[in-house]
This record gives sequence, C-alpha cells and structure tokens, in this order.
Amino acid sequence: MQFISDLLSPLWNQVVDALSAHIVVPATQALGIAQTAGDPREIAQATMIALLQLFLIGCVMRPLESLIPAEHWADRRHTTVDRNFTLLMLLGLFPIFSFIVLMPFAHLLGGGPATDEHSGLKAWVPWFNDHPYLLFAVYYVVYDCVYYWMHRAQHAIPWWWAMHSMHHSQRQMSCWSNDRSNYVDGMLQSLILASVGLVMGVEPSEFALLGLLSELVQNFSHANVALRLGRLGKIGERLFVGPRFHRNHHMLRDAERPQRHNCNFGQVLPWWDQLFGTTLYHDEPLRRTGVSDPEVDADNARGVIRMQWFSTLRFIGAVTCRAGWRLGDVSFGPGYRPIHDVDETKSCAPLTPSPP
Ligand SMILES: [Zn+2]
Ligand SMILES: [Zn+2]
Repeated sequence: MQFISDLLSPLWNQVVDALSAHIVVPATQALGIAQTAGDPREIAQATMIALLQLFLIGCVMRPLESLIPAEHWADRRHTTVDRNFTLLMLLGLFPIFSFIVLMPFAHLLGGGPATDEHSGLKAWVPWFNDHPYLLFAVYYVVYDCVYYWMHRAQHAIPWWWAMHSMHHSQRQMSCWSNDRSNYVDGMLQSLILASVGLVMGVEPSEFALLGLLSELVQNFSHANVALRLGRLGKIGERLFVGPRFHRNHHMLRDAERPQRHNCNFGQVLPWWDQLFGTTLYHDEPLRRTGVSDPEVDADNARGVIRMQWFSTLRFIGAVTCRAGWRLGDVSFGPGYRPIHDVDETKSCAPLTPSPP
C-alpha cells in the first residue's frame, strides 16, 4: 500500500535491500526454500521490524522500568522467562511460522492472501479508496474491538482461560511479558483476527502494520513503569491503554471483591471497557499481579517448555469436560480439571496424563 511505503525512509529501504541480498537470499538458498519462502525483501523487512521492536523494548522500555518502576522488586528473576518468550517469538517462531510454514502453504494453494482492490470495506464504501489513512483507522478500531471481545472470552470460557491463565500467572509483570502466552492460544487468536482482516479486505502489509502497532502498545502496557504525566496522562489513558490500566487487568484476585479483577480487557483502546462497563482506573493503591490459583501460580517455577506443556494440559483437561464450557471463573483441581468458583460440585473426573 502506497502510504506505508511513503512512511519508510530511503535509509530503511537500503538496509532492507542489503539484508535481503547478503543474508536472506543466501540463507533461503542454503535451506533449499528459496522458491517457496516468499519475497526475500519481505523477509528482510520482517526481520528489521522484529529487531526494531526488540530495540524499543530493551533500550527504551526496560531502562524506564529501572528509572520509574511501578513496583519495586528485590530482583527480576521471574522476568527472565518472559524475555526468553519474547526472543523466541520475535526471532524464531514468528519468522519460521510466517515464511517457512505459511508462505509455502499459500503458494501451494495457488498464491498468497487476496489483495483485491475492491474487496471488503473498500467495496462497501468506495469513498475509502481515496482516504487510506481513515480506512486504516477504521480497520484498527474494528480489529481492537474484536480483540476486546476475544479477550473477554479468554477469561470467561474455562478452556480458554486454561491457556490464557499462563499469561496472567506472572508475578513480576514487565516489558517482556506480552509474549508469555500459550502457542495453541496464539494460533487461535491469529486465526480469528486474520479472518476478520480478510472479511474487511485488509492487505497483508496493512495487517502486519496493525499487528506491529498493537504489539508495541502491548509491550509498553505490560511494562513495570509508573508514568506520572498529570492532567495530560489522565486524558491519554482515556484514549489509549497504558501500563497502569493493564496492570489492573493483571491484578491478583481480591478475596473480598472477587469480581474486581474482571476489568480492563482492552488491547490498545480502552473505549470498549468504557462502553461495556469493565473499566477500572487507578482509584486505589497499586495491586500485585498474578493469580490466586496454586495450579496456575506454579507456572512461576516453570521454564518456557514446561509452561507450554502444563497450560496445554489445563486446556485439554478443560476442553474435554462439560465444566470447561460453562462460563465463569474457575481454578484447576486434580487432573487439570476446572472447578467453578461458585459451584464446586459440578466438576469433572481428573485427567491422568503422563509427565513430560
Ligand atoms: Zn487477560
Ligand atoms: Zn497482559
């Protein structure tokens, strides 16, 4: 799309060209996937974007956490696993999935995603063809609204919470925590968001930009940073999700007010929480993050692979059991079966999987 390429500076293009010619092309040839992996410039561009994202997290957000922390920690030992999740996602899983699995698969089926000029929103409202920035803003608002409802479902449906709870189990939430998530859950979310993108007629390059912008805001909204911007900050946090807003979403359950943590589901725009009555601004002292369920909290003693394994066991335990489909807050009992907080009698017989 023209306006995206207009935004990219000539320097960026030169670096992308050099990376493509000297690293991506030789690498795809050596791996024998040069014909199917897609445009080497696109691969180079995706790599540059991942490196830029890592730079912003490591060199801007991380120093801010030391300068103005929201929570003061004696050490940061629980954040290490989240940093590994981020490195694995940005430098490993995302490029592998995009260019070694998805692209060849799309070529096999006869080409990549449709980029018809007159599909989706552009076909329904032709006026948008002359107003690409506004069209992009509309895409973003719809994308964010779908994310809000998907996120509410992740909390309300026990089998989905079984996986999403891994993201919430972190006791030291930091700028690395966004990529701490179950990969089955990640694929399900990508499938839903990509389907919405296809229906709206979003082009692949626009979809990549939507994803990147959301990722950057989410990296920042997980940061352990106390922003004090006064009046400006108060207006800003009504418009965009910030660290304090998302920290409330990650709060440990309050035993006296057990529904308090069901708040602030917005990804980038807090408007949906405001509209559907789930907003909680900082009207009380800062809360610790994490979960009260001991089975999920045990994730804090697990590494990347074991966390994937146990959250997937919880998912299997919940999705194969009637209680796993009944909406409501649950904890996980023997055999990874969900137990509803309000009615413990309607639980299922335990699963007995073999350990990894
Ligand atoms: Zn959540
Ligand atoms: Zn989060």
